[in-house]
Amino acid sequence: MTAEIIDGRKIGLDIREELKSRIEKLRESGQPPGLAVVLVGHNQASKTYVSMKQKACTELGIYSELIELPEETTEAALLEVVNALNENDRIHGILVQLPLPDQISEAAVIEAIKPEKDVDGFHPVNIGRMQTGGEAFYPCTPYGIIKMLEHKGINIAGKHAVIVGRSNIVGKPMGQLLLNKHATVTICHSRTENLAYHTKQADIVIAAVGIRHLITADHIKDGAIVIDVGMNRDDAGKLCGDVDFEGCKDKASAITPVPGGVGPMTITMLLANTTESAERARMK
Ligand code: NDP
Repeated sequence: MTAEIIDGRKIGLDIREELKSRIEKLRESGQPPGLAVVLVGHNQASKTYVSMKQKACTELGIYSELIELPEETTEAALLEVVNALNENDRIHGILVQLPLPDQISEAAVIEAIKPEKDVDGFHPVNIGRMQTGGEAFYPCTPYGIIKMLEHKGINIAGKHAVIVGRSNIVGKPMGQLLLNKHATVTICHSRTENLAYHTKQADIVIAAVGIRHLITADHIKDGAIVIDVGMNRDDAGKLCGDVDFEGCKDKASAITPVPGGVGPMTITMLLANTTESAERARMK
């Protein structure tokens, strides 16, 4: 079997195209969606992510503001910035780029963002609502993966999904969103014994670990759908995932590449959440 390649760039562009008319309507009403991105310090990877997010906003007509703060910023100073953005009617989404310098508690900052502006979907209120139902923003990476599966017409209900990784931003919310879509969910992590035993049961394998090529052809069953969240570098410095793509592509029925798979979907869902937030604000 040769796997269908799930093209995250193409699906992301299709979703962004759908967003354009919603953004246009908001602009016509005088309330374009607005995203504020707060960057503390000089982390090069964070700077790259932030500039990608801003570029995507500009392309779609989303108003965006970048607030850059020095590495030595105190938690109190950052909370003041967040509080001002909470009260700013032009801003519908607040994203504080992680990681933050050691002197700042990430939890305190995330909890200071108004849940209705938490377009990253990390606030405990949004996480709770994701679990119990109700209006919420979902974390962008797992939300993007659900959209990707739906876009490909993959029926999630009744499937056994095995997620490798249990982080708060990917693995755990991924499990919840798949459960909400009626999958049977298994979550594996660093203490899981015999990882391959679990992943081989999966109709859908989602790898979100951060270890290059952890998932090989021996970890999947014939016809599995394989989603690779990992972003790692190989010895030559080239971006690669958690899945041995070459080894798995002849066994899986569908697989995401790295790059060009999950990554573009994450930014797309940030744009979607920001647009949604502006629409909700307008309805109030
Ligand atoms: P974390 O480091 O927060 O979590 C990694 C998870 O993998 C942990 O739950 C850990 O288990 C588990 N793990 C570690 N080693 C093993 C192992 N040998 N077997 C099974 N599980 C293991 O990472 P993130 O969730 O933040 O990110 C995961 C990957 O996805 C990274 O490569 C990251 O760069 C990428 N990423 C990509 C995004 C995108 O848009 N494409 C967005 C976000 C992340 P334990 O809990 O026991 O420690």
